[in-house]
Amino acid sequence: MKKALIIGGGMSGCAVAHQMALVNPDWDITVIERGSFLGGGVKTRWRGGHPFTFGPRHFLTPLPELYEYLNSVIPMRRCQEHEFITYIEPDQNYYSYPIHADDISRMPEEGQIRQEMAEALQMQGAANAKNFEEYWTGSVGKTLYSKFVDGYSRKMWQLESNKMIDEFSWSPKGVTIKEGPRATWDTAISAYPIAANGYDDYFDIATQDATVLLNTDITDFDMDNKRVRFNGEWQHFDMIISTISPDTIMNNVHGELPYVGREFMTIILPTEFAFPENVYFVYYAGNEPYTRIVEYKKLTQHKSDSTLLGIEIPSDKNKLYPLPIQSEIARAYQYFSDMPEGVISMGRMGSYKYIDIDDIIFQAMELAKQIKEGGVAHPVPVYGSDQLALNLLSKMIAQGTTVQDIEAGVKLK
Ligand SMILES: Cc1cc2nc3c(=O)[nH]c(=O)nc-3n(C[C@H](O)[C@H](O)[C@H](O)COP(=O)(O)OP(=O)(O)OC[C@H]3O[C@@H](n4cnc5c(N)ncnc54)[C@H](O)[C@@H]3O)c2cc1C
Repeated sequence: MKKALIIGGGMSGCAVAHQMALVNPDWDITVIERGSFLGGGVKTRWRGGHPFTFGPRHFLTPLPELYEYLNSVIPMRRCQEHEFITYIEPDQNYYSYPIHADDISRMPEEGQIRQEMAEALQMQGAANAKNFEEYWTGSVGKTLYSKFVDGYSRKMWQLESNKMIDEFSWSPKGVTIKEGPRATWDTAISAYPIAANGYDDYFDIATQDATVLLNTDITDFDMDNKRVRFNGEWQHFDMIISTISPDTIMNNVHGELPYVGREFMTIILPTEFAFPENVYFVYYAGNEPYTRIVEYKKLTQHKSDSTLLGIEIPSDKNKLYPLPIQSEIARAYQYFSDMPEGVISMGRMGSYKYIDIDDIIFQAMELAKQIKEGGVAHPVPVYGSDQLALNLLSKMIAQGTTVQDIEAGVKLK
């Protein structure tokens, strides 16, 4: 029997263990997790009787088959109604997020905003944008950008300027200006597990055919020989599927990949609900140290006279958000291109990309399918409709470009 090692028991490690068991039951799978539980940040925790995760972690997907799969393992509640709002201090007001066309008439600078939007449309500014700031000013004009996006994004990514963000094909919240319903995800499936313990049963079901080693740290990585050392012993595998940062498993030879992390605080309030009906999150676009507050019972449907809020504060404490900066993405791809056959890197850290639970399940399905068909086309399985993984690495290889070239300003054709 061939042996595969999965490094990391977060959502990705669990999803790939499950897909391997479903599609390739002839493989012997070991999952190594350094922490004392499976699920990473998606694991349910408890405070004052309230269930919560660090951050919202609700399931969003445009692909029904991904929802059907997850729903068949852990029944999900659809929450199509949910809305996000942003607090804008200069206006002392809350508006929908993504920016909603109907809110513009409530803003003090309405005339100026409409003029800037018309100019942006005429100049097709977004199409020629070289960085995140140009993308947004070219889409919605300067005033909306400075109200909603500028401060939020600099806080979110811990950067001095949004001009530093030069990879902006991602836009997790979709459109720049939304029209029609205020529900944030009216064009995608939006859901949260029904069980009080959230996704936790998924982690156990997904790994039931695998050997799971918790509280186990890998001390040495030797990807060229597909072996790792843990519990003092080197172990060889036929395949290694890593869900942790690629620089770690490749011994940092091209330098460390930067991430932004989060401090999480919870607060219980003596009121049944803190946010208006259907509002699940409030974003803060100004100088507040936090980016977002989540009211968990909107997701979990927990019944209580009190409510639990989760507050997210950007920090450098942990590795949660890979930076959308081309030179760093290129560094990650340098690591991917060094990975020998049989070493695969997936998940949010593993792909070095801001991907969500649905993308991770997609990657796990794609990977298991490719293994069954006889080989893996790429060290990073493609996620959702995103072709970036395939395109960037093949371009770098074809053009003989290294991360040092990209740092020096060489642009990929
Ligand atoms: C604040 C926040 C809110 C989010 N909200 C949503 C949301 O609403 N909807 C959504 O779809 N997605 C959301 N996401 C994204 C989603 O949760 C992540 O994409 C997903 O959890 C990543 O899973 P992963 O397994 O790739 O990584 P991780 O969860 O980071 O798992 C990696 C695992 O590897 C382990 N590990 C690390 N190093 C080692 C080592 N050397 N040896 C062994 N084990 C190791 C870690 O302990 C961890 O358990 C959110 C993310 C954040 C940070």
